[in-house]
Amino acid sequence: MTDVVVVGGGVAGLVAARDLAKGGADVVLVEASGVLGGMIRRHTVGGIDLDMAADSFATRTDAVGRLAIELGLGNDVVAPDARGAWLMTRDGRTSRIPATGLLGIPSTPMAADVLAVVGQQGALRAQMDSLLPGPVGSKATSLGALVRRRMGERVLDDLVVPIAGGVHSTHPDDLDPDRVAPGLRAALLREGSLARAVLSLRARAAAGTPVQGIRGGIVRLVDELVADLETYRVDVRLHTRATRIEAHAVEVAGADGTTERLPAQHVLASVPDPERTAAADRSGIELVTLVVDQPELDAAPRGTGMLVHPEAAAVGAKALTHATVKWPWLADVADGRHVLRLSYATTATDTDDAARSLPVDPAGPTGARAVHDASTLLGVPLTPDRVTGAASVRWYGPDLTAAALGEGVVGIGEASTGRGLAGIVGSARAAAERILDS
Ligand SMILES: Cc1cc2nc3c(=O)[nH]c(=O)nc-3n(C[C@H](O)[C@H](O)[C@H](O)COP(=O)(O)OP(=O)(O)OC[C@H]3O[C@@H](n4cnc5c(N)ncnc54)[C@H](O)[C@@H]3O)c2cc1C
Repeated sequence: MTDVVVVGGGVAGLVAARDLAKGGADVVLVEASGVLGGMIRRHTVGGIDLDMAADSFATRTDAVGRLAIELGLGNDVVAPDARGAWLMTRDGRTSRIPATGLLGIPSTPMAADVLAVVGQQGALRAQMDSLLPGPVGSKATSLGALVRRRMGERVLDDLVVPIAGGVHSTHPDDLDPDRVAPGLRAALLREGSLARAVLSLRARAAAGTPVQGIRGGIVRLVDELVADLETYRVDVRLHTRATRIEAHAVEVAGADGTTERLPAQHVLASVPDPERTAAADRSGIELVTLVVDQPELDAAPRGTGMLVHPEAAAVGAKALTHATVKWPWLADVADGRHVLRLSYATTATDTDDAARSLPVDPAGPTGARAVHDASTLLGVPLTPDRVTGAASVRWYGPDLTAAALGEGVVGIGEASTGRGLAGIVGSARAAAERILDS
């Protein structure tokens, strides 16, 4: 019997396995695919090594920054370019994202950068927030209802839908304000207006940028974690899929069909329950990366990128990242070329195409759509002949309908603790520590 079996070799499983083994536990890590890292992976497009999914981490906790330091990457933690991002409204207008908002909710409704997006009428309606009694809207069950009540439809649809909706891939009418903006409701009651509540939350936020990256890519975290697994002698089994996860044993199947039962004192799982996962329509995201040789983009026409209103008819993309503007280190690597990343909503029943980087013909349907959307979003006509590399990757995320694990199994990772590295790293490390202390 080993001390711990960890299921899933994404960042959650890697972090937990490393800490456990470093603390002296015997650890077996099983990973269904042939690669470690899960959603944190590298692909090469047009000769440039790039992150395949996540490119940054939130700084609302110091969990990832601290891990980076422990892994020897502290000097390579970098802030994104300060030029900020833009948005596209439902009717296809493009504007800078106002400087002093929270999830699109303005702290100064009459500020010039807010007026530029919502117009005078929209701003005047939003300004009424300061005249309404504090409790109005404070019991709203969704972020959308809260904003609509206090600041009106224009602020909601022009700002909060593209920004909060883009960040969380969900319409604000389906977002719980206490989850996406903790403290906002209490601040509204305390300050008596939503604008002042936003101002007070912003004042309390830690200094510095809300996200950071790593020079060379977030994937370097995985490189270092994997190296540590070797140092601390974790028994890593690739092509090994957990088929049954219990509190003190994991049943696994190898690629050749052999099965084995791995008994353990503790089981940590960063995957949904494999016995309950069913083929169902899963929503996902397709990322199309273009490497473009077009000097007109040097001026960074839309800053670090754009968030797009989900019903904007002008483009199919939901967001665009101008990666070589966002990350100066990447601009150095790209040597004059530009890296653009567009994201599209996608659904599938068969998710076998997930996490595979597939080359894209810039003149074919996927490439042409991305080139068209990038041209519209950036306001610069791009042509397929200027594209020197293109790739597409689809991601579906865990099947959350099967996320609940059996009693006694410790759930870690996105399947149990939600999306995003800051939360995942912190909670996976806490779970490992609890086991070491037990
Ligand atoms: C396009 C995209 C962009 C993102 N951008 C950001 C960002 O900028 N910042 C941020 O913080 N987060 C971002 N995220 C989210 C972040 O990448 C994930 O939340 C995080 O990487 C999930 O890590 P995990 O270990 O929980 O899961 P995963 O990375 O999914 O790892 C799970 C692992 O388990 C394996 N597995 C599955 N089933 C089994 C089984 N039965 N047996 C054995 N192994 C199994 C899988 O093969 C996989 O390797 C992004 C996600 C996507 C898709």
